[in-house]
Amino acid sequence: MQFQDLSISKSVLLAVTEEGYTTPTPIQEKAIPIIMEGNDLVGCAQTGTGKTAAFAIPILSQLHPLVSKSSKGKKIRTLVVTPTRELAIQIGEAFETYGKYLNTTQLTIFGGVSQNAQVDQLKKGVDILIGTPGRLLDLHKQGFIDLDHLHHLVLDEADQMFDMGFINDVKKIIKLTPSNRQTLLFSATMPLAIRELADQFLHNPATVQV
Ligand code: AMP
Repeated sequence: MQFQDLSISKSVLLAVTEEGYTTPTPIQEKAIPIIMEGNDLVGCAQTGTGKTAAFAIPILSQLHPLVSKSSKGKKIRTLVVTPTRELAIQIGEAFETYGKYLNTTQLTIFGGVSQNAQVDQLKKGVDILIGTPGRLLDLHKQGFIDLDHLHHLVLDEADQMFDMGFINDVKKIIKLTPSNRQTLLFSATMPLAIRELADQFLHNPATVQV
């Protein structure tokens, strides 16, 4: 199988090809068609399997028609929640790479740094927001993050977020999003707490394991 067999948008396909990707990894081959069809997904995959592209490529492909050219009035359509600053930055870079021929704007936010630059960007408008749970909730509480127009919610490294004590923050964030969202949950392991989270918040998810 090749990327062109996966019915992803042409702009994303071009960007992926320019990255030197020819063949989808197993998680990509399984997850991309499910996500493109609009289904919820539980993905059991470790870092290094290509899981970031497995969600970023189909999300960008679906986002394309929704995105306006100017930043003004942009609404957050995709939210990725991830446990650490390092992961958030990596995911942001992946969206930037695969989305380089789209008009999408994205922002990566995390704690431990001043919020001013992050708030300025949020005020300008972003399509894709990537962040760690604490800073996300904090900026939401201050009124800088509107999740009412969200299409895609990604919970990345869910088991690590649980281990780091973020599970209640994650649940609070999920409850701030519209119930008709598409939810994608990725986790390297599937402890009971994560299965319960999936049962509670995902709608008939397909499960993919690599
Ligand atoms: P991840 O598991 O998302 O951390 O990705 C691991 C690495 O694999 C990243 O550096 C990606 O750029 C790379 N990668 C992801 N998908 C592919 C692919 N289909 N072909 C080649 N490299 C890939």
